[in-house]
Amino acid sequence: MPETNTVIPLHQDIRESADTLAQTFDHAYDEPRRFKVYTARQLDKIEQLTHLDDETRFAMDVVANVLPFRVNEYVINELINWDNVPNDPIYQLTFPQKGMLAPEHFDKVADAMRGGDKTAIKTAIAEVREALNPHPAGQMEHNIPEVDGEKIEGIQHKYNETVLFFPSQGQVCHSYCTFCFRWAQFIGDNDLKIATKEAGQLKKYIQAHPEISDVLITGGDPLVMKTKNLRAHIEPLLELEQIRTIRIGSKALTFWPQRVVSDADARDLLHLFEEVIASGKHLALMAHYNHWQELETNIAREAVKRVRATGAVIRAQGPLLAHINDNADDWARLWQTQVELGIIPYYMFVERDTGARHYFEVPLAKAWNIYRDAMKQVSGIARTARGPSMSSHPGKVEIQGVTEINGEKVFALRFIQGRNHDWVQRPFFAKYNEEATWLNHLEPAFGEEKFFFEDELAEMES
Ligand SMILES: *Cc1c(COP(=O)(O)O)cnc(C)c1O
Repeated sequence: MPETNTVIPLHQDIRESADTLAQTFDHAYDEPRRFKVYTARQLDKIEQLTHLDDETRFAMDVVANVLPFRVNEYVINELINWDNVPNDPIYQLTFPQKGMLAPEHFDKVADAMRGGDKTAIKTAIAEVREALNPHPAGQMEHNIPEVDGEKIEGIQHKYNETVLFFPSQGQVCHSYCTFCFRWAQFIGDNDLKIATKEAGQLKKYIQAHPEISDVLITGGDPLVMKTKNLRAHIEPLLELEQIRTIRIGSKALTFWPQRVVSDADARDLLHLFEEVIASGKHLALMAHYNHWQELETNIAREAVKRVRATGAVIRAQGPLLAHINDNADDWARLWQTQVELGIIPYYMFVERDTGARHYFEVPLAKAWNIYRDAMKQVSGIARTARGPSMSSHPGKVEIQGVTEINGEKVFALRFIQGRNHDWVQRPFFAKYNEEATWLNHLEPAFGEEKFFFEDELAEMES
């Protein structure tokens, strides 16, 4: 940690430099665009869907009643290639498909909807949701910290150095991903007072934990907040010497690049980014990307350019998903495109054990093959994404590969992050299993009874 790190106040010259930089941007995109969004109740208002048959539309309605559905006009009109529906990856990413619910769950809700009884529909939806593991990886019981003996809902502290912060106003997204693992938490509020109160609690918590150097602001999508509310969360962090990196997890660069280009407070957001940089801290926009198609529009690229011009670094992460990106060529092209735009590939995730997982999941063995085949196609500069990685209860576990040791076919695994930081980078081995899609499907190799971390994990829990 550097010895001195005083916060440099926002001087006029920073604003001026931002505005000078802005001269180099392509002003064709500066015209504010209306943000229009459709939810489950407005499915019939989406013109493109009227070309689908009745059965497909009813199925979409059924699934949209169980899993969150929200899609905006930019995604519909500019990211989806409607000539390629239903196979278009962005269509699969945002529009509910029948297969996203198991047949028995689908029928339960569909029957209730055909019956038309409101209470019966509500009950059916609630039952199905409950069956979909709404809070994976011990999200609820294990990760809620306390300040002054009071539980704080918006903070998760699982790994020593990094605290996750979920501002209550950032609990929606510009559109919803059909595979989202946080699908169960979409409720929101929009009030500067709440932002300020939460920011105060976060600051207190951090000050009580000197091991924290990173804050990851996540959601939902924190960039759905107005800049003034985001500012209320970020500015107090700039006063904390111990905080070296601020990350913002977001899919706005895909779903609403206008957020950093033409929204009324876009310029103010870029200024905020510059203030973070000027304070001597690292600012990382953790951009969620699933497919190179998300980076093909001019405005998506303009957004990347503007964020980078502030000094923030964009790192890319996203899960590997059947129906969307389960082939090596798409990943190689995604990573290569990112590198050319100055984005650093960071993680390839394994789809989590929740929600519509059975529709999207890819066996770990296949996931590793896709990862490896994609890596082979790009140079070292684009090989910075670690994975495939499972964000599981004991930690982030990476599949390093499949190999044979003393005649036994095994997965070589390692912790990227661990509930105990001493597990980090420790290799371990599981019996090869062609169908396994998550850590809990794996058994220790070489006749061992347990993985090396299991006793310690159990102890931490008791
Ligand atoms: C991934 C993750 C982090 C950040 O880990 P890094 O390895 O620093 O990227 C922090 N907290 C949780 C709960 C995570 O899942």
